[in-house]
Parts: sequence; C-alpha cells; structure tokens
Amino acid sequence: MAFNLNSYPVVYRARYSAKAGAWAEEYLEKPHKKPQEEAALGEAEAAALIDSRNYYADMPLVSYTSQYGFGVFEGLKALPQKDGGLAIFRPDRNAKRFYNSMKGLYMPPFPEESFLKAVTEVVRRNAALGFRPAYKAEWEKDSFMNADSVYLRPFTCSEGGIGVNISGEPYVLVVATTVSSYFSPGTPAALVTDRIRATPKGTGWIKTAANYVSSALAKHEAAEAGFVECIFLDAVERKYIEEGSSCNVFFRLRSGELVTPELGDTILPGITRASIIELARDKKVKVSERRLSIEEVMSEGEECFLAGTAAGATPITELSWQGRRAVFNGGKTGELTADMRDTLKGIQYGTLPDTKGWMVRI
Ligand SMILES: *Cc1c(COP(=O)(O)O)cnc(C)c1O
Repeated sequence: MAFNLNSYPVVYRARYSAKAGAWAEEYLEKPHKKPQEEAALGEAEAAALIDSRNYYADMPLVSYTSQYGFGVFEGLKALPQKDGGLAIFRPDRNAKRFYNSMKGLYMPPFPEESFLKAVTEVVRRNAALGFRPAYKAEWEKDSFMNADSVYLRPFTCSEGGIGVNISGEPYVLVVATTVSSYFSPGTPAALVTDRIRATPKGTGWIKTAANYVSSALAKHEAAEAGFVECIFLDAVERKYIEEGSSCNVFFRLRSGELVTPELGDTILPGITRASIIELARDKKVKVSERRLSIEEVMSEGEECFLAGTAAGATPITELSWQGRRAVFNGGKTGELTADMRDTLKGIQYGTLPDTKGWMVRI
C-alpha cells in the first residue's frame, strides 16, 4: 500500500499550558533500529516495531479528540531533490492553515514559526538517522508518478475530557512517514456521491478530524463500486460540484476555461489548488473560481483532475452521476492535466526551476 503508516522514529510534541500561556516542546525518539536492519525484519517483528512507534503511554485516551473528533491536522511533503537534499513544499501555507484551523475550533492557535521549525526538524532529525527516501533518477521517466516522498502529518490531540467541549490545552504532534503514489493504477473513474461532506455554517473549510467520517464512508462506497474517488455536491441545492474526499477538483471545459469551485465555508482551501491556479494562469490558461454545476460538467467537461498534497494533480477520466457517465478526453489523461501534474512535480522534485520560492530546503 502506498499510504502506509510506517512512522519514522523522531516525533515532535508540544503541549499548551493555559496557566503559562505557552507551549512546551520536545522531540521524542521512539524505538528503532537502523533502517536497513528494520527492512530485514520478519513481518510480525516489523509490525510490532512500527506499532511501538505509534503508542504513547503518557497521553490521555478519553479526550475531546477521541470522543468527538475535536482536532485538526495538516498534510505536507518533503521531497528528495536531485542533488541529494530534501525540500518541503510551501510549509508556510500549511503553518497558516493549521493556525486558522485551530482558531476556527477556538483552540489556542499554534504559532506559525513553531510549525515551520517543527516540520523542518522532524525531517532533518529522521534523515540523520537514515529515515528518508533517496532520490532515484528512474523517477524522471514517468514524471515522478511513482516517486517517494516524506509525508508530514502535524495534528492536535486534546487534553483528557468526556463532556462535549472545546480543547483549551491541546497537544500538537508531528509525525513523518515515507509515501509513494496515492492512487493505484487502473481506470481513474470517480463517483458523484449523494452523501454530504460539509454544510454552510459548518466546518468544511477547517481541516478538522470531525469532517472525515462522511468522506471515509463515501470513499469506501465509491471504492466498493470500483471508483478511485468520490465527488461531493453542495448540501443545499445538491447541484454544484464541491470537492473530493480529501482533495480539491478542477475541470477543463470545452471552452478551454479551467474551473474549480470557489472557496467558501464548505470547501477546504487546498495549497495544491492555489498552486495550480497560479501555475495555470502563468501559462495563460483562463482560470475561474466559481460555482460549477454537475450538469455543466457532464455536458461541457473535457478534462478533470483532483488536486491535493497526496494526489498531486491526478487525472480523472470518467465521472459517474445518478447512472449517467461522462468520459473526458476519450478516457485519456488530458493535455492540461498532464502539464499541471508534470509542472508541479518538476518544481517539487527540483527538475524545474523553483521561480516562486515554494521549496524550503532542509
Ligand atoms: C487536505 C485537503 C485538501 C487538499 O489540500 P492540500 O493543501 O492541497 O493538500 C482538499 N480537500 C480536503 C477536504 C482536504 O482535507
């Protein structure tokens, strides 16, 4: 599996003290061997070691997070560079969104500088122990479609508590793991689900754990029916495209216009989304952030792709909605989709110049 939990040993942990009005930080070194020794372990031994890295004896089990999904998270990547180094893609954006997400849940927000330092140090300290993927020239042959990277997962856990409540003294943790491509090969078809992910005045714009039960259910149902992803429509009119289970979505229409749903309180403001909008405009593509109906997509859609940290820009060539099926670009990856995917990957892995200063070297 490509999105395994095989956490690296070094974990960042901070805890907010309401009394002190400050965060206390530490780096934990969980049990590990040398990476090559771990690779040689038998299945049961390896599983036990990985589990031991995911267990924390000194954190509360019954909490607002475990009971009510009261927590926020982030996802970002450090990418191996051709010259042997590692660089993180736009971590300042994740730092800001994490801050906004915590504020959105009335938590004491985690300072952006602390976030940047923590993600950088987690990558650096794990790499120093040998836990990191190495750059492979062979990745260039298929535009990094099967390339590895370090996935960073910052998240919050609340203090212990059992009543429905907000978290006043959360923990912030940062764990890391190697990931390869997120979507398995096969026909990239998506199913328009009739489940609802987010509602106006709800928490859809916040990267909060609470949102992902609907996503997991809809994605599971889509997968059972043979689809790689589900697409949500708006909760009110059940007519407008919103996004995927954990990624934003773009459509290129016959007119040439590239459209993605406009942000609001039901759409997660993706950093990949923002980056693609900028890259497409640089290439003189007309990009609109606007309401886009499912009917318009079914009749005018010519290309479709998902956009997110895990997905990159992943082509969707078929869309299924209430028994109707739209096939984009004859079932093949569209030109603009491939261009966006390759441009993004090129910048991220350092084969294209980083003219925007998006990459932060470790
Ligand atoms: C994380 C996420 C995205 C994508 O955001 P990126 O910053 O591009 O990774 C989109 N939609 C949802 C619901 C998400 O959770």
